[in-house]
Amino acid sequence: MTRKQRLALAPAMALALAGAAALGSETPALADAHMETSETSDGGELRASVMEDMPALVDLYKDLHANPELSFEEHETAAKLAERARAMGFEVTEGVGRTGVVAVLRNGEGPTVMLRADMDGLPVVEQTGLPYASTRTAVPANGVETGVMHACGHDLHMTAWVGTAQQLVERRDEWSGTLVMILQPAEETGEGALAMLEDGLYERFPKPDYVLAFHDAAQAPAGFIGYSKGYALANVDSVDVVIPGIGGHGAYPHTTKDPLVIGSSIVMRLQTLVSREINPLDPAVVTVGSFAAGSKHNIISDEARLQITVRSYTDEVREQLLSGIARIARGEALAAGMPEDKLPKVTVQEPYTPSTYNHPEFTEEVMAGLSPRFGERIQEVPSVMGGEDFGQFYRADPDNVQTLIFWVGGVPMEEFQASQRGEIELPSLHSPFWAPDAPVVIATATEALTAATLDLMPKSGG
Ligand SMILES: [Zn+2]
Ligand SMILES: [Zn+2]
Repeated sequence: MTRKQRLALAPAMALALAGAAALGSETPALADAHMETSETSDGGELRASVMEDMPALVDLYKDLHANPELSFEEHETAAKLAERARAMGFEVTEGVGRTGVVAVLRNGEGPTVMLRADMDGLPVVEQTGLPYASTRTAVPANGVETGVMHACGHDLHMTAWVGTAQQLVERRDEWSGTLVMILQPAEETGEGALAMLEDGLYERFPKPDYVLAFHDAAQAPAGFIGYSKGYALANVDSVDVVIPGIGGHGAYPHTTKDPLVIGSSIVMRLQTLVSREINPLDPAVVTVGSFAAGSKHNIISDEARLQITVRSYTDEVREQLLSGIARIARGEALAAGMPEDKLPKVTVQEPYTPSTYNHPEFTEEVMAGLSPRFGERIQEVPSVMGGEDFGQFYRADPDNVQTLIFWVGGVPMEEFQASQRGEIELPSLHSPFWAPDAPVVIATATEALTAATLDLMPKSGG
């Protein structure tokens, strides 16, 4: 989450606060919230049951938080949670999409619902100062040893996944259908969902009618649920542009073709892609995140490199942006007089992360079901241009699979209120300082996922 996204979401959440002033941190607030829900059809029974599980779930959370693993390295994490699922009575398959786990519970006729949590941590040195902070290190692909941290909150996702599994197993006689619970590797690299699908997730196991997941949010107060209908997160493309020049002495520029000047022209012309070529009503972002070239004051380099992130929602806009980048890179080099055999090379990284689509009607149906239970703690929020490979589960079979990912706010209430007063800046996801109000996130997400799944798989005649 960027600061900009946080500011966009903050007003809606601030409004909601008026109606939920009792929501604070940890258990007392949840007890208050519990008392507010006498109007739910179960009279707060599910919430009370989740609260009973919370001490053990918080222990699990602390263990997961202290022991993060990098993308596709989630061996211990996967084994630990597979074991729990097996003990609960699921048919468990490990090693799906390298380190992924699939746990299936067949419970009679009815729809198939898939619940997904992601498992990977990030190469971040934790600086929260929490007693259960990670001190783990690992060596990522670049070969430089780093600390590892659950800085995106995937430990929250996994803990609520276990909490939800427990509830649904205990409540077997309240639903009918097939439950598929998956633990996905490598969300952070955008590869894990695709790896599981390519390893037969929809062929070797019951194919879902519905897929649900949540992500913690670092710009919203703990215990709030945010959702977006339609496109919720963006297509994410990483583009590399290598710009050849003809190098030489800085004092004799007329004997060279300066790739820094060509690169600068490309960077400036790229700003017109979104502002002049894309329909203003279609969200799009082109950000040049890196521009590298040269070594010394008086040498004209023979190469410059750009690294660009490109964001969009639709396939059409994505294609327009990517072809526009290639056209601009080529055009600016030609304008500088570069020969045809030394034009920029534009590479789009594969695989890219496709946009995430929340089916509008499905989203409304799920949120309407949760509404009596959470009241003003549920808010529709603006979509964002961040990315999530959750979108792959829809893309793999768009005619038959409906998907929804929603946000659960994680900011401790006092910190959120201080940030609203302008007193502090909140850390974003991926920050070494991200320290969510874990008990509130886990309890909220467990209750929401359990209730939504029960709604989707009613007992026939029940
Ligand atoms: Zn992340
Ligand atoms: Zn994440």
